[in-house]
Amino acid sequence: MNASVILRAETLIPLSAPLKVMSELREHYGEHGDIRGVDDDWSVAFDIGKAHARMQGGAVTFTVEAADDASLALLQWSVAEHVLEYAPQDRPDIVWTGGTRAGLPLPYFREMQVVRAQQVTPLMRRLTLSGHDLARFAHDGLHVRLLLPAKAGQRPVWPVMASDGRQAWPEEGDLPAARVYTIRRIDVAAGEVDVDFVLHEGDDMPGARFGQDARIGDRVGMTGPGGGNLKPAARYLFAGDETALPAISRMVEELPSGIPATVIVEVANLAERQDLTARDGVDVKWLSRDDAPAGSTDLLADAVEAAGPSPSDDIFVWAACEQAAARRIRKHLKTLGFAKGRYLAAAYWRRGAAGDVED
Ligand SMILES: Cc1cc2nc3c(=O)[nH]c(=O)nc-3n(C[C@H](O)[C@H](O)[C@H](O)COP(=O)(O)OP(=O)(O)OC[C@H]3O[C@@H](n4cnc5c(N)ncnc54)[C@H](O)[C@@H]3O)c2cc1C
Repeated sequence: MNASVILRAETLIPLSAPLKVMSELREHYGEHGDIRGVDDDWSVAFDIGKAHARMQGGAVTFTVEAADDASLALLQWSVAEHVLEYAPQDRPDIVWTGGTRAGLPLPYFREMQVVRAQQVTPLMRRLTLSGHDLARFAHDGLHVRLLLPAKAGQRPVWPVMASDGRQAWPEEGDLPAARVYTIRRIDVAAGEVDVDFVLHEGDDMPGARFGQDARIGDRVGMTGPGGGNLKPAARYLFAGDETALPAISRMVEELPSGIPATVIVEVANLAERQDLTARDGVDVKWLSRDDAPAGSTDLLADAVEAAGPSPSDDIFVWAACEQAAARRIRKHLKTLGFAKGRYLAAAYWRRGAAGDVED
């Protein structure tokens, strides 16, 4: 974080079990940032800024600090969202001092327009989206939340800042559906991002449907970015299904030169392979499901286990895929003795469930 400019927002939230909420939040934030302090007074440092929680009787004061208004608003959103999740019975009224005023556009939101489309493989379509002021989307995470028409042809309605730090949606009209995608390529000067959409099977699926049907000029909302950065290591093992391919491709391209990587990607069939090998020291293994439904095989988890990463090596293991496979990979790495911070095994989607998934 830029130490010279600090923006700050603060809220005092009355809670019936303040220590319990602080402890749950501390544990959750510990997976994403550096925690300092004790149960009733702790702080956490993220790439985008800091959050500080202090118990005051039957309430907790949360202070968030960041170098820009978008990062500050993301921290306010995160605190409000998690406190409301961990204290549903309290339904506390959260009011912030400082930060973006309620009713104004979300500083981490951009309206984007489709300017190009390209079929990358039979089941992967790339949309180039154009928008203004994209510099913040080039760092602090590869992923964005796209706000997509819930029904074909729907007119978009965008959220604004709510007084509790979350997003306020206009009541009239149909709300867009939010789905998480990866920025495969960003060109800040040209004001463009590429997003690769997996054209998967399923019902409704606003993400895949937009990827398939979007036409030049269609509009889509984009918030973020989010997601952690890779931890430094002497070598990497990347594993994922096709939804993780955009992230893996970008991370491999951005690795420091000379750092070796093994990449294992599960795809529907071999026509889904992409060219990832432009860099020396990158060994790519493609696993074909032979058109079996995504999420129905053990191919990826078996291959990670067979690759035999060892916690005694200076290796970082990164995996993202369907929830069941991600859970199996995470359990395997923990059993091997991989320490927190030396691996990531993320659920990118869940078979039979729409939208966001729990890890
Ligand atoms: C950090 C992160 C980054 C991601 N990056 C990308 C990306 O760059 N490109 C990308 O295509 N996806 C990406 N995903 C996955 C994407 O968000 C999910 O696949 C999402 O469910 C797609 O939304 P949808 O509207 O198409 O389908 P939903 O409405 O969410 O689901 C409808 C049905 O389709 C099924 N389904 C969802 N995804 C798949 C799939 N891949 N294969 C088979 N069935 C599926 C669901 O189980 C459900 O039954 C990412 C996810 C995360 C968390």
